[in-house]
Amino acid sequence: NADAAMYQAKKLEQDNVYFYSNDLTESTAKRWSIENQLREAIEKDDFILLYQPKVCSNTELISGVEALIRLPIKNDVPVYPSEFIPIAEETGLIIALGKWVIEEAIRQLKAWQNTACGHLSIAVNVSSRQLYSKGFTKFVVEALQNAGVDASQLEMEITEEHLIPTNQENTIKETLTDLTDIGIRLSIDDFGTGYSSLSQLKSMPISILKIDKSFIDHIPNNKQDTAMIKSIISLAKNLELQVVAEGVETIEQLIYLRDNDCEIIQGYYYSKPVTYTEIQHLIENKKW
Ligand code: C2E
Ligand code: MG
Ligand code: MG
Ligand code: MG
Repeated sequence: NADAAMYQAKKLEQDNVYFYSNDLTESTAKRWSIENQLREAIEKDDFILLYQPKVCSNTELISGVEALIRLPIKNDVPVYPSEFIPIAEETGLIIALGKWVIEEAIRQLKAWQNTACGHLSIAVNVSSRQLYSKGFTKFVVEALQNAGVDASQLEMEITEEHLIPTNQENTIKETLTDLTDIGIRLSIDDFGTGYSSLSQLKSMPISILKIDKSFIDHIPNNKQDTAMIKSIISLAKNLELQVVAEGVETIEQLIYLRDNDCEIIQGYYYSKPVTYTEIQHLIENKKW
């Protein structure tokens, strides 16, 4: 009857509202908690930088490292960059976080001067929001000068996605040019996953191209992927860019990349991201 139907409908609606708001509450709570952790870490300078070696495929020597940020683990629950970097970008906290990363990397370069690690370069990841922020280049120049570190030892990785043209494209290109003018090397990160055009690639002052892990995963068996890898390597060579393979996990992948002239290898095959002390051990003991 009508009353029962009405009751059903109302109940359904309430249930739906209940589930909907429950989900929403959960994701909002998680987001809020990550945002708070970020704010707290910024306030207390309480982040961690791990370093992953970049290894020369011919000599098997470490030529540099990539700095990857971590939040201190709270209540046994690690929160990874894939979760907190997007939140940092949306909230603008990426500016303060990014400054911490650059200053810490420069501090590490300084500490490594005149040691067995003195030749290493450190690559930091940079979001477009940082590049748009006012005074970014000035901040970097001053940080290098204050520490007495050469700009040529600092690299910046920018994902292809962040190089896609927007109405702010000119600002970004000017900043990139300023950064290269002072001697910083720029790499295009996760290459192949975005939609940057070849002409954009040509017009950007980039010196390193990092092939995304998704192209590496199925080599040497997948024909499409090996074709892609060869094309990307030859594109990089023709544009006089250094080429780095990301996410190399197996010896088969390594051999294939080396045989096809990929200069630099990064991935779990050699090492996961580790602390600066462990990098020192790797360099001193020439582990592989
Ligand atoms: P990315 O810059 O492309 O860094 C490579 C990611 O792949 C890192 O994840 C690294 O740990 C992981 N990786 C490296 N080799 C292998 C491998 O052989 N197998 C597998 N499965 N994974 C591998 P991570 O550290 O979780 O960072 C994820 C992303 O978060 C980075 O991707 C970067 O886009 C961003 N990120 C990390 N640190 C920072 C930072 O300080 N600032 C900014 N803006 N972004 C950062
Ligand atoms: Mg990177
Ligand atoms: Mg990458
Ligand atoms: Mg990535």
